[in-house]
Amino acid sequence: MVNFEEQLKLLIELQGFDTRLLKIKDELTSIPERIGAIDQSLKEKGASLKKHEDNLKALQLKRKEKEVELQTKEETIKKYTSQMHQVKTNKEYSALQDEINRVKADNSLIEEDILKIFDQIDGVNAEVAGEKELLKKEDAVAAGEKKKLDADAVRIKGDADKLKIERDGLAAKIDKAILAKYERILKNRGGLAVAPIVDESCQGCFSRMPAQVINEVKMKNAIVCCESCTRILYVEE
Ligand SMILES: [Zn+2]
Repeated sequence: MVNFEEQLKLLIELQGFDTRLLKIKDELTSIPERIGAIDQSLKEKGASLKKHEDNLKALQLKRKEKEVELQTKEETIKKYTSQMHQVKTNKEYSALQDEINRVKADNSLIEEDILKIFDQIDGVNAEVAGEKELLKKEDAVAAGEKKKLDADAVRIKGDADKLKIERDGLAAKIDKAILAKYERILKNRGGLAVAPIVDESCQGCFSRMPAQVINEVKMKNAIVCCESCTRILYVEE
């Protein structure tokens, strides 16, 4: 003869274990996700740094090109200046002079450009240095956090294993048919198989329970289930 009152007490206790185990399982699942989020954040910051470094390289290349251009034009000026000693006419002389002035004007524009690029390089350099420093710090923090999360996972897993042994010990005391019913409901009802009736409502689905059902639950002569969510019902004393 099954003692339903005792069985129900065991089921309520078992539900307590299963609720804790479910919470632990969620916590364990969240750890790799949290580690993944840390890695992703570092990856994004690394990509931003790379972008600024590429920008810096492009600016340095542009500066070099401008300097080569400037040098070429300086040589053109030298060439024209030496040609001035050889010209025969005033017209040729002033044409060369005009040409020299034109190239000199070009050069002062190029020099201005080079100065602007130098300013830009200084700005990006500061940005790159700042980001590198920050990334180094964040790398260290992330490594610490990941180490802690790994340790948490090991500890939580150990706790869960111990809890599972206790849970299984308790489950062994429960009537096989009742346990099978409990486990089926647990699986189909999001980890909650046993629900109290509070204010005449099932706390699993919040449906109002008929007086007859409440009476049956109170009599404790059988396992009574909620008609709408199928959870095993009990009344808190
Ligand atoms: Zn219900």
